[in-house]
Amino acid sequence: MSAATELTRAWANGAGFVREVERLSGQKVASCYQCGKCTAGCPMAADMDVAPRQILRFLQLGLQEEALNNSTIWLCASCMTCVARCPREVDLPRIMDALRQIAVRRGRVKERRVYLFHRLFLAGVRRGGRLDELRLVLGYNLRSGQLFKDAAKAPALFLKGKIRVLPEKTSGAAEVQQIFARWEARKP
Ligand code: SF4
Ligand code: SF4
Repeated sequence: MSAATELTRAWANGAGFVREVERLSGQKVASCYQCGKCTAGCPMAADMDVAPRQILRFLQLGLQEEALNNSTIWLCASCMTCVARCPREVDLPRIMDALRQIAVRRGRVKERRVYLFHRLFLAGVRRGGRLDELRLVLGYNLRSGQLFKDAAKAPALFLKGKIRVLPEKTSGAAEVQQIFARWEARKP
């Protein structure tokens, strides 16, 4: 294959990837004019390996490897600060979410513990209709190989009623399960 053909194919792959991100997120990556206000206000930026602004730049350039293979898309807390600050009304958390979906589909999850936490969180909500903190923490510590992580904080949390030994029942559990079932039916 000639260098020109390879380049054309790489460009087409990159363009298809960006279209998929735009479809999933409902955003236009070309809207961003790289002012950096999102990154300046992001509370997670100091822990990220790539600035939120750069994620947009990777997408504008069709660089799928760079857009997927980073910790930033997993560390984004969806706090919406960047959305409030963006002069172009780019919803960056939606873009991060789309990238996480694609990364999961392709088996390219860089922050496996974050992904594990997401899955346990959603499985807990699906099971009982609301979050069961104790089982979430126990499941996460067990499966992430950090059995005693934050164990010293447990007594105070129990005493203040922040964590319950028995899961709390919710009357809306059936409706929550229907929401999950509808979402599963729509999955590609
Ligand atoms: S604030 Fe908006 S326009 Fe500015 S870099 Fe961030 S996403 Fe782009
Ligand atoms: S939504 Fe994500 S990228 Fe935006 S400010 Fe919050 S943590 Fe940062």
